[in-house]
Amino acid sequence: MRYSAFSIFTQALRGNASWPRVWRDPAPRASYDVIIVGGGGHGLATAYYLAKEHGITNVAVIEKGYLGSGNAGRNTTIIRSNYLLPGNIPFYEWSMKLWEGLEQDLNYNAMVSQRGVLNLYHSDTQRDAMARRGNAMRLHGVDAELLDREQVRAMVPFLDFDNARFPIQGGLLQPRGGTARHDAVVWGYARGADRRGVDLIQNCEMTGIRIEHGRVIGIETTHGFIRAKKIGLAVAGNSSRAAAMAGLRLPIESHVLQAFVSEGLKPLIDIVMTFGAGHFYVSQSDKGGLVFGGDIDGYASYAQRGNLPVIEDVLEGAMALWPALGRVRLLRHWGGVMDMSMDGSPIIDRTSVEGLYLNAGWCYGGFKATPASGWCFAHLIARNEPHPAAAAYHLARFASGAVIDEKGVGAQANLH
Ligand SMILES: Cc1cc2nc3c(=O)[nH]c(=O)nc-3n(C[C@H](O)[C@H](O)[C@H](O)COP(=O)(O)OP(=O)(O)OC[C@H]3O[C@@H](n4cnc5c(N)ncnc54)[C@H](O)[C@@H]3O)c2cc1C
Repeated sequence: MRYSAFSIFTQALRGNASWPRVWRDPAPRASYDVIIVGGGGHGLATAYYLAKEHGITNVAVIEKGYLGSGNAGRNTTIIRSNYLLPGNIPFYEWSMKLWEGLEQDLNYNAMVSQRGVLNLYHSDTQRDAMARRGNAMRLHGVDAELLDREQVRAMVPFLDFDNARFPIQGGLLQPRGGTARHDAVVWGYARGADRRGVDLIQNCEMTGIRIEHGRVIGIETTHGFIRAKKIGLAVAGNSSRAAAMAGLRLPIESHVLQAFVSEGLKPLIDIVMTFGAGHFYVSQSDKGGLVFGGDIDGYASYAQRGNLPVIEDVLEGAMALWPALGRVRLLRHWGGVMDMSMDGSPIIDRTSVEGLYLNAGWCYGGFKATPASGWCFAHLIARNEPHPAAAAYHLARFASGAVIDEKGVGAQANLH
């Protein structure tokens, strides 16, 4: 069914009792042309673009839980393309362009909200670094505005401008940045892929990868063996474990990232804002909760929950920037498992096993990449060659040293 004002009207007349299921619940077939492992945003977007852009519809997405049960359903929903390095800017800007047309393309309300992303600076050095970043963005045709203190005050007057431990000097604004509803993005891609014939297999875990003469022939799952000509891994925080099933060792560590939501409040903040003197960022959801987060936990883990020191650190950042938040009650918090690469940039590449493709290393910035990641991964799988926008995201860079170190912190995964 196509969603439209007319379909809402006619369904309302029938008491909203005959909306069809949004996707099927098929049993896995014996074989597919392509299996995508991981039913998060990236896996589903890949399946969608495989079908839509390349006409490859004999595809299954294998998900060990329910669709969107991983990071896709746990993130803080920020989308932006305010990157500095040449390998990154074109890719993330391509993603932003796909976000801008996504809802029409999917015929699904993904609640894309280009409310602006404001990164605050608190020192002359930070201002210079932000001016450089803004200039790099503009050179690539990306929108960026460097704001002074009074321009920032006009946008977010409730911050501590007069007595702060780290005085606010200004900010770098990307007006086209913002948020999208994470669950709806998953559901929109799932529906789009299903409508084009892709089988979405939930509660089915990949437990092994079968390889013969150096090429994949299929995967072992909790529902039995499924044959496939090509396999794409898009399992985010579980990338190292999945790749190990094919005997591969990845330049990735898995760490927990926590997120927080406050009680519902009246509209307070209409942009996404990040603190520059500590790790704290915040936006407000349509339900009224403040959605915020900060740094990852500093140790490797596969647990989908975090620890107290990071909670304290995030809340310290919040209080330093916006003291009034001390009156707000925290509603809930949770964790997701991040695939932290050694240079902080992702991997979209073939592997040394023929027919096995890898999509990983998204660190804590992979939600905004969802459309371009799916687009470029589908291109790679369909044509066996990288998409130009993701050509820099190859595995060989970790061996050659040609890394894409956006933060400039070296090979320490938890700092990226
Ligand atoms: C708290 C938090 C906040 C974040 N905030 C942002 C943000 O504001 N902006 C941003 O851009 N990014 C953010 N991110 C990062 C972003 O969510 C991830 O980078 C992105 O979602 C990863 O891609 P995905 O959606 O495909 O991953 P996932 O949703 O994790 O998908 C991977 C799927 O693979 C499945 N899987 C794993 N192993 C197997 C197996 N063996 N067999 C079958 N299935 C398997 C998992 O169950 C999972 O559903 C945040 C992440 C977290 C946790």
